[in-house]
Amino acid sequence: MGYKLTPAGFGALLDELATNYQIFGPVRYAGKGRLAGTDLTTYGPVRSVSDLVWDARTTFAPKEVFFPVKESLLYFSGQEITEPSLEMKETLVFLRACDLNAVSRLDKIFLANGPEPDSYYARRRQHIHFVLMECQEGFPGCFCVSMGTNMATGHQAALRLENDHYLLQALAEPWIALGERYGQPARVEPVWVEKNPLTVRVPERVDIALFQHELWREYACRCIACGRCTLSCPTCSCFSVQDVIYRDNPERGERRRVWASCQIDGFTDMAGGHQVRADRGDRIRFKVLHKIYDFRRRFGINMCVGCGRCEEVCPEYISFARCVNTLNQLMEVQGRDA
Ligand code: SF4
Ligand code: SF4
Repeated sequence: MGYKLTPAGFGALLDELATNYQIFGPVRYAGKGRLAGTDLTTYGPVRSVSDLVWDARTTFAPKEVFFPVKESLLYFSGQEITEPSLEMKETLVFLRACDLNAVSRLDKIFLANGPEPDSYYARRRQHIHFVLMECQEGFPGCFCVSMGTNMATGHQAALRLENDHYLLQALAEPWIALGERYGQPARVEPVWVEKNPLTVRVPERVDIALFQHELWREYACRCIACGRCTLSCPTCSCFSVQDVIYRDNPERGERRRVWASCQIDGFTDMAGGHQVRADRGDRIRFKVLHKIYDFRRRFGINMCVGCGRCEEVCPEYISFARCVNTLNQLMEVQGRDA
């Protein structure tokens, strides 16, 4: 079902939704950007229709709504252990097609990568519903078309901002009822981005000989191991587990999981002082191949969704897209020489 809504109509629709849902989407925080005098566009609560940001990609991904940066897994008091309960309102997340595809990658990691689903992720995820924000065209550095993530499924409704009105494609309740109440019937078909300025070619296979290629040595010199690329990536899911002992009573404390990054120092530290990937070039190789090779071998799809965030946030201008294209060229050359 399709509907045309005025900003006032869409605002009234959001107000009604807010009585039953918490609503998150791309919002702008003035003066909070990483450079002086710049704004931060990221995920946050949407309180009015004017909060939704349409003209910029968010620096951070929507995953933090259902995979929090920091989460208590259990509390301990002496020998007693309790698991925190979760009282969570139904939650709507406005997001782009690439990020909706990224959710399917996180679902695979947390729900289908072992004999048991991750119960902490699962219990939040069941309360999350998605509204697709249509892209008129990609943002600089996007390559969703190359990754096949320019189209999406799994959303309740799709929204397009067109001139001075909104076009809503309602695929489920409560959107159909709300569209009837606040909009006018209209023909609305999804429009997907068909071309990005940037094209990325993912190699079908990667030869083990590339593990020692000098390409990674260049990254070893440039990368400062800040971890920004992974923290802003919508598909990165690594966390570390910390036991926190309360200062006022050392018998009590909690176990938390906290986002971690394969790019930062200490991530692969093991007992005895061994580090699996001490070299920063090796860490980038691990990340890149995980995104475009290992995950595909496990689940049949690439992990990377081509959102372009990692290279936008990298202070060393390390381009994930250029790295993947270089790998593809190296494999093509190897194929010709074989
Ligand atoms: S690897 Fe980079 S381009 Fe790919 S999904 Fe992560 S942040 Fe986006
Ligand atoms: S953002 Fe750039 S410099 Fe920082 S860890 Fe990632 S690749 Fe390295």
